[in-house]
Amino acid sequence: MEIKILGGAREVGGSCLSVETDSCKIALDYGIKLDSEPKKLPTDFDAVIISHAHLDHTGSLLSLSKHNPTIVGSEITRDVTVDLLHDMVKIQNEKGVFDYEAHHADKIGQCWWARDAIALSGMKINLQPAGHVAGAKVTSLEAEGKTIVYTGDICTHDTEILRGCKLQALPKKPDVLITESTYGGKVRPARQQLLDEFMEDLLRTMDNRGNVLIPTFAFHRSQEMAKRIDTAIANGYLPRYNVYTISNLAHKINSYFNHNKQLFTKEIRQQKTPFNYRHVKHLYRTAQIEEPAIVICTSGFGHAGASLHLLKEWAGDERNAVILTSGYLPPDSPLKTAKEEGFFKIDEETFSVKALVKQIELSGHADQNELVEIVSKLKPTRTVLVHGDLEQAELLAERIGEMTDVCIPQQDEVIDV
Ligand SMILES: [Zn+2]
Repeated sequence: MEIKILGGAREVGGSCLSVETDSCKIALDYGIKLDSEPKKLPTDFDAVIISHAHLDHTGSLLSLSKHNPTIVGSEITRDVTVDLLHDMVKIQNEKGVFDYEAHHADKIGQCWWARDAIALSGMKINLQPAGHVAGAKVTSLEAEGKTIVYTGDICTHDTEILRGCKLQALPKKPDVLITESTYGGKVRPARQQLLDEFMEDLLRTMDNRGNVLIPTFAFHRSQEMAKRIDTAIANGYLPRYNVYTISNLAHKINSYFNHNKQLFTKEIRQQKTPFNYRHVKHLYRTAQIEEPAIVICTSGFGHAGASLHLLKEWAGDERNAVILTSGYLPPDSPLKTAKEEGFFKIDEETFSVKALVKQIELSGHADQNELVEIVSKLKPTRTVLVHGDLEQAELLAERIGEMTDVCIPQQDEVIDV
């Protein structure tokens, strides 16, 4: 059996691996590297297993639409992936020539098998919840007497809405563990400490009758944030305030979440429609905002949409706050210079920042301690580190090197199993 690294080697982005036996060839994820030309990936797979609905794991699927692929993943991953591919088609076609249209995105949904187990010629595949985002899965694969476990993006701690990955459900002593290493070198403060900090920043800004901008991704992070604030107001922890979400896609995803309550924590499952919020209102346009307000909106990196508009409007006022909850900011994000240098530039115009800009990493990824725990519990013979910068992967390798053989493969490297 052969594993080939087709993307996501020594970096975050474009995740894709192939696993090939004498009788069968599958892909694990089929992602795109954001902000770069789509790479040509092979298309001759018996099945493509998708771990979760982030574009760095799904964004190349449009190129399979002409090949009648068999795509396997959870139902919510299918629904969100198809929505995000539609978005991609729309944005790219507005920018210029793009090879794909809306029906290609629909085709991906039609080729999808929403199930947790599949048998192929000489290969058995099982999917288990991975934490990270709703519907994310860890893939376990058995073929030629060997077991391979691929984490996709994984999180073992519980968050307010999602349970972490239960390691006891995964196969023990796999021959190969392929794991992400996004935070391979980093130990984060306890989640509760970050949440307390976040609430303090909100309260301080609310006391000053300021506005709070929270740029967030439409899938999962928006629901998690809206639910967090909704619950805090319902419990009396935060005072009543104008709280809004502005993202039609996020609004649509709320209903997928309501229909898939079984994926979430016990507390969420007990509510009738947990993602219909009582104190958070969905708006279509920024013009509908009544200030002062807390606004959860897209785009997550502040490049476009409501978050860019509100950043320009609100950043100059010291009563306001901009709260970033993503650990990573791309170099061209206006949020990055706003946070680090106190200004940002849009089309040659410079905006100075007086609002509080704060990054609170409420991440959905395992940190170094969690990744070490995964290795120490599963006891793999060999561990392959992907989906992490080389430095992060090396720091993780140092900590797990006595428990397992560690490999940090390069792009196109082939691993014999
Ligand atoms: Zn992800």
